[in-house]
Amino acid sequence: MYEKFQTLCSNASRIAIISHTNPDGDAIGSGLALTRFLRDIYPNNKSRFFVPNHFPQFLAWADPEGDVEVFKENVAEAEAFLAAADLIIIVDFNQTSRLEQMSKALDMNLFAPRVLIDHHINPPQYDLMFHSAASSSTAFLVYELIVSIAGEEVINKSIAEALYLGMMSDTGGFSFGNLTPALYRTLAVLVERGLNPVEINRAFYNTQSEDRVRLMGYLVSEKMVVKSAKRAAYITLDDAEKEKYKFQIGDSEGIVNIPLSVNGIDFSAFMMQTKECIKISLRSVGDLDVNVICNEHFNGGGHRNAAGGKFFGTMEQAVVKVEAVIAGL
Ligand code: 5GP
Ligand code: MN
Repeated sequence: MYEKFQTLCSNASRIAIISHTNPDGDAIGSGLALTRFLRDIYPNNKSRFFVPNHFPQFLAWADPEGDVEVFKENVAEAEAFLAAADLIIIVDFNQTSRLEQMSKALDMNLFAPRVLIDHHINPPQYDLMFHSAASSSTAFLVYELIVSIAGEEVINKSIAEALYLGMMSDTGGFSFGNLTPALYRTLAVLVERGLNPVEINRAFYNTQSEDRVRLMGYLVSEKMVVKSAKRAAYITLDDAEKEKYKFQIGDSEGIVNIPLSVNGIDFSAFMMQTKECIKISLRSVGDLDVNVICNEHFNGGGHRNAAGGKFFGTMEQAVVKVEAVIAGL
């Protein structure tokens, strides 16, 4: 498998690495780590990393060289590269519906082999797959791929930082998910290779805008609805509130986790009004499978304890629906 990956990469002159809309820390971290690695070991090939829309401001520090290309900001140029790419590597998602307008550009490219590196369940078949739903992040899978091909020595500080970003964001700072011995061994290697976790933790947690911190406070004090008997809680955010707090992409990150910090709550829902729909995020603790709930009720999916989807209707209707789901828990 690793040999096939090496053959594909060394034979490709234009490698497109792509990740999902509203990229999170794992999308950015795993994509950047892979891009940096491929540029180091295949300097004659052109490796470029695209995401459909902008990543949140609080991740800006992760990309000092501007290696993440935002499809929306340069459509013609990105489309041309994607259409002519001779290898497409998909990281941290498995449904092209999560690419929005970028999926059209990919549809035009019917010849490039497609490689998937991902940890979401039920992936479709690609030409080559590095897939494990048991992996706590895609970044961990990218790490395994890198060391299998080139050894730990190839990991420099910036690759280590990108991998760590992915691992920390999909595990809530190593607080949930599949926290295996192998993951902790990997962290030790990343520190040996130059990662300073204190630096990255500070950049990740303490670079939020004042508006975002105030928005969180408002949502907790005014908008969190707790259904103790069902061990459930939810938060809603509408357009007027978004405007008041000068909402930016990424400002909603992590809000869905807040209700889980209440003792006795193990199901949380976050509903946010967007132009297209009410975006739904669900989180759970333990056996409760929110992926199934998102599949059944919200046109979506994800993982057992973290999933998302869409509701088409008003916020009031979304609340009724979520309350019905909670009543059935
Ligand atoms: P979040 O709640 O942070 O937006 O997403 C949590 C997880 O749910 C993501 O990692 C992704 O796997 C999944 N997810 C979120 N939104 C959607 C969606 O609209 N469709 C699908 N299939 N999965 C989603
Ligand atoms: Mn991920």
